[in-house]
Amino acid sequence: MSDQYVYAFADAAEVPRELLGGKGAGLAEMTQLGLPVPDGFTITTAACVHAMHSGGDWPEGLAEQIDAGVAALEQRCGRRLGDESAPLLVSVRSGAAVSMPGMMETILNLGLNDAAAAALAEETSDPRFAYDSYRRLLQMFGDVVAGVPSHVFENALARRKQEQGAKLDTDLTGDDLRGLCTEFKRLYREGSGDDFPQAPREQLRLAIGAVFRSWGAPRAHVYRRAHEISDELGTAANICQMVFGNRGESSGTGVCFSRDPSTGERVLYGEFLQNAQGEDVVAGIRTPEPIARMHELLPEAYDELIATVERLEQHHREVQDIEFTVEQGTLYMLQTRTAKRTAGAALRIVREFVAEGVITPDEAVLRIDPAQLEHLLHPRLDSTVEVQPIARGLGASPGAAVGAAVFDADTAARMGASGEAVVLVRWETTPDDIHGLIQAQGVVTSHGGMTSHAAVVARGMGKPCVAGVESAKIDEAAKTLTVGDTVVREGDVITIDGAAGTLMLGALPLVAAELGDDFDAIATWADERRRLAVRANADTPEDARRARELGAEGIGLCRTEHMFMAAERLPVVREMILATQDERREQALAKLLPMQQSDFEAIFAAMAGLPVTVRLLDPPLHEFLPDRTALAVEIALAEPGPGRDRLEKLAERVRGLSEQNPMLGTRGCRLALLHPGIYAMQVRAIVRGGLAAAARGEAAQIEIMIPLVAYAEELKRMRALVEEVVAEELEQAGQALEISIGTMIELPRAALRAGEIAEHADFFSFGTNDLTQTTLGFSRDDAESAFLATYLEAGVLERNPFASIDVDGVGELVRIGVERGGAAKPGIKLGVCGEHGGDPASVAFFHAAGLDYVSCSPFRVPIARLAAARAALGDGA
Ligand code: PEP
Ligand code: MG
Repeated sequence: MSDQYVYAFADAAEVPRELLGGKGAGLAEMTQLGLPVPDGFTITTAACVHAMHSGGDWPEGLAEQIDAGVAALEQRCGRRLGDESAPLLVSVRSGAAVSMPGMMETILNLGLNDAAAAALAEETSDPRFAYDSYRRLLQMFGDVVAGVPSHVFENALARRKQEQGAKLDTDLTGDDLRGLCTEFKRLYREGSGDDFPQAPREQLRLAIGAVFRSWGAPRAHVYRRAHEISDELGTAANICQMVFGNRGESSGTGVCFSRDPSTGERVLYGEFLQNAQGEDVVAGIRTPEPIARMHELLPEAYDELIATVERLEQHHREVQDIEFTVEQGTLYMLQTRTAKRTAGAALRIVREFVAEGVITPDEAVLRIDPAQLEHLLHPRLDSTVEVQPIARGLGASPGAAVGAAVFDADTAARMGASGEAVVLVRWETTPDDIHGLIQAQGVVTSHGGMTSHAAVVARGMGKPCVAGVESAKIDEAAKTLTVGDTVVREGDVITIDGAAGTLMLGALPLVAAELGDDFDAIATWADERRRLAVRANADTPEDARRARELGAEGIGLCRTEHMFMAAERLPVVREMILATQDERREQALAKLLPMQQSDFEAIFAAMAGLPVTVRLLDPPLHEFLPDRTALAVEIALAEPGPGRDRLEKLAERVRGLSEQNPMLGTRGCRLALLHPGIYAMQVRAIVRGGLAAAARGEAAQIEIMIPLVAYAEELKRMRALVEEVVAEELEQAGQALEISIGTMIELPRAALRAGEIAEHADFFSFGTNDLTQTTLGFSRDDAESAFLATYLEAGVLERNPFASIDVDGVGELVRIGVERGGAAKPGIKLGVCGEHGGDPASVAFFHAAGLDYVSCSPFRVPIARLAAARAALGDGA
């Protein structure tokens, strides 16, 4: 016997949603509840999946099951497909298990042909209605099944209206519309090479095939990629008896939400259009009116709608998004599903559901999508304003920014510091641009991906970033950004949307970000439920304060290199690097010491009472030196003399320090083994800063972290160096200070040899950025702009491993590190400080792996708090 693919709505209540799709499941459930739903049946997603894998062929038995389904429907309705006195008309609508709004197909009024249209005109004594329905079928069927573009029909309709002097569609008479149907059939034949099929069963077969095919359409594919929906789910097809909203003044159609989806307020929110079919609303042909208008026009149907909506929300314990039609005063429910909503609305709704006793606090925590919170934290575009992007890239850091376009970091820094709003536009940013980034409202790059320098830094700072706008040509010398014919020059005001990844001309209105009371209530529930502590990656006192406000319980990574980048420090740092004599180097370090000390003091004070992990210098030294090519140009242009000699010396040192693969070169603890003076200076600054903060009663728990350890011996030596300096400083000060010393686990060897390494470490912090790059052998800086997009598009990878942890590979190393480190030193403190610390799916993994805390950008702290609670509640994210 073949599998069952067809279920009448009335018999489908127990069939899983994966098979029925969201629409089918909603119809089955509403039928079961005794709500007014038109009769019909669902063809399961399994049939679509079969067709998808066999070149469009249907599974065995499907055609027969559909025939039987139609026959049963005809019997229940007392009407027959193609009947010449009372024809049955149906809609054919797609519906996947995961909602994909607007992505797939609908055909209405199927079953009409020349004879049935005439019969319907006669039966209803309304030729206008009958031929209006027929022309809609010809148009939708032509578009969806036969590939004749909708506008071909629209143009003909517009022409006809003009000829007849009709303003609205409804001004056309039955005769006009019958003539239009003849024209539509001709257009159908010309566009497709075939006649419009007159046999209703043939129409049905073709329509179902087209619905199945629509699953594979490019736009559906793009949507699924963007929302991480599997291609294997397939869509169901729903065959439903038509009800008509276009049967005069007592009819109409509408959509509504049980609560306002943009604010969450508990009011019926929606739109209604009198004497219309659903497509009129969707296609924007006529402007619908607020739902309250229905109260005036059709009071009884309105009251019934209110009661039904209330009942559906109670039943689903979720805000519902509903489609309905009123046919000559009678209400029919066509669809109900969980409503999509803004982040702000989601929080309010969930909090009110708890207050109303609809759900528990556990459920409330599980209902908020942590990733969506990010939208709340950045000023964003006013969603009521229509935008016209001139270019698109990756939405790399959410929020929106408005400012004058500037093409170099110095100008951005200068204009920004003087209070002007600027957006930094670069081919790609480098650490040298940091001062410009700090002063800019946002950043656009034409190159690079979600973890490019610009993207990571922007997210860290909570600034919007649109990365990888490949269609934009950026000419740094001319200070222009060109997309097609549009040229943006320095000083031109632009707006970027870092959530959508779009770039617009001019200043668009923004609305302010705030988390608000609803978030606080839910975060409190989350905090009571999570086991993982949440810290922040913060390098400045401002970041530390912001992180604390957002609920961070300490700093898991303070990257000290940013402290070396500030404009007044860079020359001293360069002096230190270029010094050929120890004495000169010591002098430069001595100048840096008080600067670092005050940084640390302020950061410790901002995190008083909480742990602060300070990582000693990590990047290769050449990152602090001028660019090689720029120097060569400068030398070529310089007059002979001492100035040029100095430049040449500098160039020689830059050459000497440059490496083929700096990320795998002289950085982290390797650097410190060659130049111990740098770490010694940093440790001195930490101890002095720590003592100063403690003296003000603002002591933090200081943790010193050594980066890029591969061998236990490296850590052993670094620990000895740190301990020696700490002891020296404390002795000199005559004071005591608790400082723990640990390491990053960010190389595969470190994870594998975690047992030995643990002997010299008080804590481990998994550096999953480097661990990902070194485990996969993917250069973090190159992978995203080079091949990662193709990998994701082609399905080689499901997720970007730099954004969401590669559980099977990198995750395995984390598990090994936890296990071996823990076995050698029971109770060793374990955390993570790579970008993954703020990614909900990764947080779930870290919870399961048994870490003690995650650390992420300040703006992601609320997300991590919620994600950690969800993980504790058993949601795999
Ligand atoms: C890491 O490698 O995960 C890390 C946090 O360090 P960075 O990104 O600074 O290399
Ligand atoms: Mg690292």
